Amino acid sequence: MDNVTISKKDFLDFVEKKIQEGDSKVIGVVGKGSSYVFDRLESSSRLCLDYDVTILPPKKYFQPPREVLLRFITKKADSYITENANEPLTIIGIHYYDLAAISLMDRAFSEGNRDENYLKKRENSLLIGMYPTQAFKYRFAGSVVKGVQPYKAADLMLADMGDGNYTVEIVTEKGRAYLSSAVQKPFTYSLEELENAKKRIKDDQKIPVPIEMSPDFLVKNHGHPVWEVFGEKCYSCGSCVLVCPTCYCFDVLDEVDLDLKNGKRIRVWDGCMLENFATCAGGHNFRKTKAARFRHRIFRKGVNLPLKYNYYGCVGCGRCAHACTSSIAGPVKVLTYIQDNQ
Ligand code: SF4
Ligand code: SF4
Repeated sequence: MDNVTISKKDFLDFVEKKIQEGDSKVIGVVGKGSSYVFDRLESSSRLCLDYDVTILPPKKYFQPPREVLLRFITKKADSYITENANEPLTIIGIHYYDLAAISLMDRAFSEGNRDENYLKKRENSLLIGMYPTQAFKYRFAGSVVKGVQPYKAADLMLADMGDGNYTVEIVTEKGRAYLSSAVQKPFTYSLEELENAKKRIKDDQKIPVPIEMSPDFLVKNHGHPVWEVFGEKCYSCGSCVLVCPTCYCFDVLDEVDLDLKNGKRIRVWDGCMLENFATCAGGHNFRKTKAARFRHRIFRKGVNLPLKYNYYGCVGCGRCAHACTSSIAGPVKVLTYIQDNQ
């Protein structure tokens, strides 16, 4: 992987040039009140790469909250026309843990029945990642995101060197081509300085169980009282799953227009913490209790996804802990409670 150096000013000028060229929609992190969100950039002056966490992860660009999959004419089975809004997209400033989540989604949406709606959007995207420059008190990504996982999704990675420069790691040839018109300087830092810059912000939290032991630990504690104790406090609001970068469950619905002649098939976000998520034909809900839903969410992340994909299903962003009104959703809190109550 090659490294180059770009001054922050030259990087902003480069982003501005890309916005004006209009070859792709440019998305970046911008301030919203006291929080941050990914949003379309009309000017590079709005870009804010010094941020703690965004309200929602960038998955919304690949799996939108509501997406039309096809349109149809009623009573004409062969009338459907598929849809896929997939204009070229560049997303700037994705923290490394959100990239790790995208690499997990890439795997989930490409295995078995390939999801062309998701995969076309990913093919048409260029992702510029970075390492956090601001602390977030709920983050524990350093203890769960290991190895090259973020680099499976990134095209370029920025590290703030703390002296007005970014080091840019060129991960893919697509990234190299994109960056070719930027004012670049030779990379003159040592690799140790680069590694230190990546780890400049230390997490306040750490997962109490090594991730490779998480499946065994959780399976052993399938009957632990934690599920009842925490489930009792849960409002089933679904906030924890809706903000999560690794939650990708969805529902598919057919909507018929008021003229009763035309309709569309839509895909919308769904979440396993919502009361009726597991309700099936006949009204039977196979995860009726809050405790069962609470356990399922943690097992999906700590057991099911590691066994299926060899990826831990949580990237330690801390969004769920921050979003939960009841202060129970964070995996660190759940696992610590189990460990402390053996
Ligand atoms: S479970 Fe919570 S901390 Fe883990 S990735 Fe999802 S939102 Fe982030
Ligand atoms: S955010 Fe908290 S209260 Fe809401 S569903 Fe998740 S665990 Fe329950």
